[in-house]
Amino acid sequence: MRWSGQELTTEQAGALPGLARLNNLVRSVRTPEFDGITFHEVLAKSALNRVPGQSAMPFGWTINPYRGCSHACTYCFARPTHNYLDLDAGKDFDNEIIVKVNVAEVLSKELAKPTWGKHPVALGTNTDPYQRAEGRYRLMPGIIAALADSGTPFSILTKGTLLRRDLDLLHEASQQVPVDLAMSIAIYDDALQQAVEPGTPSTKARLATVSAIRDKGMDCSVFLMPILPFLTDTKAHLDEAMRQAKAAGATGVLYSALYLKPGVKEWYFQWLEQDHPELMPQYRELYKRGTYAPKEYRQWLAERIQPLIRAHGLQRRREDPATGGILSKALTASPAGARTASPGSPAVPPSLIAAELPLDLTPTLF
Ligand code: SF4
Repeated sequence: MRWSGQELTTEQAGALPGLARLNNLVRSVRTPEFDGITFHEVLAKSALNRVPGQSAMPFGWTINPYRGCSHACTYCFARPTHNYLDLDAGKDFDNEIIVKVNVAEVLSKELAKPTWGKHPVALGTNTDPYQRAEGRYRLMPGIIAALADSGTPFSILTKGTLLRRDLDLLHEASQQVPVDLAMSIAIYDDALQQAVEPGTPSTKARLATVSAIRDKGMDCSVFLMPILPFLTDTKAHLDEAMRQAKAAGATGVLYSALYLKPGVKEWYFQWLEQDHPELMPQYRELYKRGTYAPKEYRQWLAERIQPLIRAHGLQRRREDPATGGILSKALTASPAGARTASPGSPAVPPSLIAAELPLDLTPTLF
């Protein structure tokens, strides 16, 4: 096996007590190509995750081939999910990546069950399916093929330009089932982008991915999120963001303000204190009441951004509602599982039509 020379034993993994407790851990691997990153390969028992029924999300099922994310965004709200194996929400989240190596195989079996209702499935709602690890493990082609072959509509939200590798496959899948693609691109200032999202492809590279998707004849939304107060919420930055998204061919823009839940707030504030100490008092004030920016700020942001979205012609269409990278066509096409409304009414809750992602959706999307 090519990587066996770099394999760690499970005893060594005992240095990470939570991981050592995993009975489905195959091995832990480090390679020179991924400096500082350890991949913990596990055999997943299931691939499809059911989203809790009371959720307002317009999709009912997700797939997360990886846990942890080397894109390392300082604001990533998925960070605390890493605590489950005694891993921390900071550097461990960026560097200790759980890889479900058998996810496509398990998924195929789940999709083949007669009880599977071909519900829309969302990828990229927790960690990024096209993070760097995907270049090594190539889990997405199997997942895409399994979903398309089973007649299951799906969506992908990503910051990963690696998606371009699978464009032919995605295009092919879109001939079989509804497929929605969205790129998350929030920062249009190169230095700031690299400081806040140090493991991600550049804004330029992500915009080029939007163009490549559009060249294939497929729609692609841009997620302008999170908008960072006092850093990316100037009119000039927002206008430039829209201009570049439009020029790349984006078919719509969705935005939300920064959300800082416990475990994430500490990590983001640590970065802010180091890079922008002058903003600390304003941030402490803005997020003193909790995880969301206050209503007054969000109202102010909406008044600033909505005219720009309209001016650049980047409103999401009603028939292509704000799905969070989550199925729009699929929402109307799916027989079950999608949160479809009664006949004659919109296929998704009206609140999802707005360009701002509803707060109860924000924690699940990046
Ligand atoms: S925000 Fe998304 S891309 Fe960034 S670290 Fe989190 S999961 Fe990865």
